[in-house]
Amino acid sequence: MTALVESAHFLGGEHVAARAGRTIAVEDPSTGETIAAIARGDAGDVDRAVAAAHTAARRTRRTTPADRARMLRALAAALDADREEFARLETLDTGKPLSLARGEIAGCVGYLDYYAGAADKLHGETIPLGPGSLAWTVREPVGVTAHIVPWNAPCSMLCRSLAPALAAGNTAVVKPAEQTPLTALRFAGLAEAAGFPPGTVNVVTGLGAEAGHALAAHPGIGSLTFTGSVATGRAVLRAAAEHITPVVTELGGKSPQIVFADADLDHVAAQVVMGFTTNTGQYCDAGTRLLVERAVQEELVERIVARTAALTIGRGIDDPDLGPLVSAEHHRRVTGYVEVGRQEGARVADRPRELPDAGYFLAPTTFVDVTPDMRIAREEIFGPVLAVLPFDGEDQAIALADDTDYGLGTGIHTRDIDRALRVADRVDAGYIMINEYWGGGPGVPFGGTKHSGTGRERGLVALESYVKLKTVVARVAPHPPSNQEGTP
Ligand code: NAD
Repeated sequence: MTALVESAHFLGGEHVAARAGRTIAVEDPSTGETIAAIARGDAGDVDRAVAAAHTAARRTRRTTPADRARMLRALAAALDADREEFARLETLDTGKPLSLARGEIAGCVGYLDYYAGAADKLHGETIPLGPGSLAWTVREPVGVTAHIVPWNAPCSMLCRSLAPALAAGNTAVVKPAEQTPLTALRFAGLAEAAGFPPGTVNVVTGLGAEAGHALAAHPGIGSLTFTGSVATGRAVLRAAAEHITPVVTELGGKSPQIVFADADLDHVAAQVVMGFTTNTGQYCDAGTRLLVERAVQEELVERIVARTAALTIGRGIDDPDLGPLVSAEHHRRVTGYVEVGRQEGARVADRPRELPDAGYFLAPTTFVDVTPDMRIAREEIFGPVLAVLPFDGEDQAIALADDTDYGLGTGIHTRDIDRALRVADRVDAGYIMINEYWGGGPGVPFGGTKHSGTGRERGLVALESYVKLKTVVARVAPHPPSNQEGTP
């Protein structure tokens, strides 16, 4: 198959080859075939991207909030018009089922539309200080924002942070994951067509330790949004610390789904299976720890195993229930965890099943006889692997849910609304879902506690990461004395 895109960054509105002329091959994980070659950027390429974004920022400063709202709406419409092309490109690049890619691109349109509506409502406050003084706040753009994006939902993760950054009047430098750069490169071209000045959205492709590190360490960045693993998050925070660059980190998870015996078990089985197998388990908030009240453990596991056995597995473009894992390297990592689980003494509840020959496929795997100290119960696997742990009573459920370094999603399944709200209140996580896994939308803030990250994306609160709050305090002349004062 011939290369899909030129081996070029997208800088200042133009396709620009890597300074050093090096490239990286991109694979279709459904087949293992090379589908594209991209530029392997270095620190010099990142310098050029940041410079282009600064030039554009000077022009963007002259736009009005209403202009930005209009351009974001036009960008949403342009992406919507090309949604099928984007979905197919995403599927080819990530291996994800076509329907899922279509849903993610629709979600991208949703982010752009939502923040288009917010662009002209980002105002300050006045603070009463009494006679003779006035104080007010202004929310100013930070200038150039940086976005380091993972491979699991490339366009979606990009639009989640880019849309509020543009709404707040900034420009951007994007570093997509080296495994999945294609939709970001295509998307950058749409921004210009929607009316944003050239250089508003720049894309530098390359390896994390090269282009990614250079971007995180760059002195010209006003804010950085990093979405990825905890280990890389630490490296990014260290690099950004040099210039005191503010960082939003959206990191990993080991999210529990807590099931009480009174829940509707058929509905719960469907939710649990969706929660740990969608995107082949490669979502940060995948519900990969099933905490189930002991009395219903056996029955629920039977229903889960029956459901996962019926899921189809195949090439993303054929639109199965599950596509492959993203790469050979990630496949080795996830299958390694399945082996670790067996060695630790946990038991796979599923029957073995046939998988496609080529590509990086793995069947959903449900482990029972799991104890809380096992690695498969504690570490993020980022594949379709479920660890089942029984509990007795609410206190133990919460203790198990919190017995993790992470704090991203938590599912609670019960018909008892008092209990659901009590558990939601007590559990330490950023995003709680009651009786429906993955409820929400662009207006609903998302993010984690503990090692799952800092800051929040989605919702109006996300805009705060892309502005500088300026306070002005002024002494004003007192009113001139008036003869009429006090008279009716
Ligand atoms: P990763 O950390 O390996 O890579 C993420 C990005 O960081 C890539 O673009 C990569 O090139 C870049 N990078 C790598 N090393 C770097 C360095 N030293 N300096 C700067 N950039 C560097 O993560 P991944 O494997 O692509 O993604 C999977 C992880 O992302 C999982 O842990 C998942 O939970 C997490 N994730 C979190 C969220 C969330 O919202 N919390 C969403 C999606 C994915």
